Amino acid sequence: MPIYEYHCKDCGYYFDVKATIKEKEEGLKIPCEQCGSENLNQVFGGFAILGGQAVNVKSRDSQNGGGCCGGNSSCCS
Ligand SMILES: [Zn+2]
Repeated sequence: MPIYEYHCKDCGYYFDVKATIKEKEEGLKIPCEQCGSENLNQVFGGFAILGGQAVNVKSRDSQNGGGCCGGNSSCCS
């Protein structure tokens, strides 16, 4: 299942959301995990860390059986 990363525009929190392609196409309604706002930006790979905030990568690491970024080599340097 793909993982989408979101950034809350209200509180600045970053978090990952697992959803199927179908769920995404049908319009996923995701509240911020921290403040519940739906005022979110989707974050695309390669620039996940903005403003020095740590991003939770636990779920990504386990998805592909290890590796620093689950196969996303752009953040392994
Ligand atoms: Zn928030």
